[in-house]
Parts: sequence; structure tokens; C-alpha cells
Amino acid sequence: MTRRKLVSGNWKMNGSLGALSELDAIAEAAEAHAGVDVAVAVPATLIAPAVARVATLSIGAQDVHAADKGAHTGCISAAMAKEAGARFSIVGHSERRADQGETDADVKAKAETLHARAMQAIVCVGETLDQREAGEAEAVVTAQIAASLPEGATGAWCAIAYEPVWAIGTGRTPTAGDVAAMHGAIRAKLRAMIGAEAEKVRILYGGSVTPDNARELLHVADVDGALVGGASLTAAKFVPIIAAAD
Ligand code: PEP
Repeated sequence: MTRRKLVSGNWKMNGSLGALSELDAIAEAAEAHAGVDVAVAVPATLIAPAVARVATLSIGAQDVHAADKGAHTGCISAAMAKEAGARFSIVGHSERRADQGETDADVKAKAETLHARAMQAIVCVGETLDQREAGEAEAVVTAQIAASLPEGATGAWCAIAYEPVWAIGTGRTPTAGDVAAMHGAIRAKLRAMIGAEAEKVRILYGGSVTPDNARELLHVADVDGALVGGASLTAAKFVPIIAAAD
């Protein structure tokens, strides 16, 4: 079946009010490439001003707490992100799994909260270099899917991002063959878990996607888009990636 490609930026802890001017050309590219869904996950402080600046672009958060409210200093809830204008959030990014000790159960709960708020979730999974070199990559990633896929996941609100930890921000990428094998394994795991709905769930690739490698990576079987960190910070680099998905 045909799945619309989704290209999402992840600004991480980068950006400022001044940097939002980059979104103008990104929003224009999103309109020009109407066959591609384009999104940008900005820092929480920039969600509302980004939405105010480019109403047509899907702006999201990079994380939300699983709870709606309460004594969780420094966190934001899905409801808060939504009120600011976010349509989606990334959950389970490897930097949060590593830095904040987030577990698969945490990631699953966060994704379920997003669904309860009628928002979309991008659920991240990926192996470390040690795990890949030990031949454990597929086992690790499919176990993460088993434990972090939200209940009732459908393609309408849930996407998976396969991001090998060793490829994030390093300039290294897996071969097209390795990406195809992993995305195929993820699709098979989804089929085992949610049956025919698995065909509708988009599986994004993330990790050092650039204008130079985007076309090859985005046209690997079962790659339904990209989650892009560094190269999403400027329109000059992100727009060619959007175009490569079309
Ligand atoms: C990411 O942070 O999700 C990511 C893929 O980063 P980069 O594109 O910079 O490797």
C-alpha cells in the first residue's frame, strides 16, 4: 500500500525566536511538495511563536509527560503542548532514553497520552553501536517496539522512527541494505502486533540524514519518511530533504 511520506525536523535544544525565520521557506516547501507531510519539532518555548508564524506547518513538541498535570517540575504535558499549538510530539528519542533514563513503558505511556489528546506521536527506537556490533540490532529494536508501541496504535496517529543511536549526529549512516532489513523487521513486528493496521503505520529513518543521502535513504523499501536533526535547523538543508521525499 502507499503511505504518504513524513519528513519531520527535530530541533533538539537549538533555536531561538530569530531562528523561526527558517520556517518560512520550510512552510513554502511543504506547500510546494503537497505529497509529503512536513513537520518540525521545536523546543517547547518556541511552539506557540512557531505556530503563530507558520500556521500551515505542523509544529510539534520533542517530549511530553505521560501525566496531564501535577508535581513534575520542568515537564510539560500533552495538553500544554497542544494548547501552545503542537499537533504532535516525538517520544522516546534516544537522547531522552539515555539522558533522562526513559524506559519503554514511559515511552508507551507518553504516546498513549498524546492519543488521548488527539495528537500524533512519533515513537523512536534504535540500537547502540555495541548492540549492532554484537549482532543484536534487530532483537533490540523489535523488543523496543513490543514494549513501547502504544495500545490501539494506528497509522492515523502513530509513526515509528528507527534511529540507530550511533548514526545520530555522527555523519555515519547504515547502508541502504541495513536500513531495508531493519525497516522490514519493524514492519513484521508491527504486523504481528496490530495485524493489517501495520501497513498504515509510517516507519521513518533517522540519523545523519542530509541533502546528499536523503534521496537514497527515503526510497529504501519500508522507509516512509525521515526524522532529521541537524539538517532541519536551516531551510537550506531541510528543504532539499523534503524535495527528496516527493
Ligand atoms: C535526531 O535527533 O533525531 C537525529 C536524527 O539527528 P541527526 O539528523 O542530527 O543525526
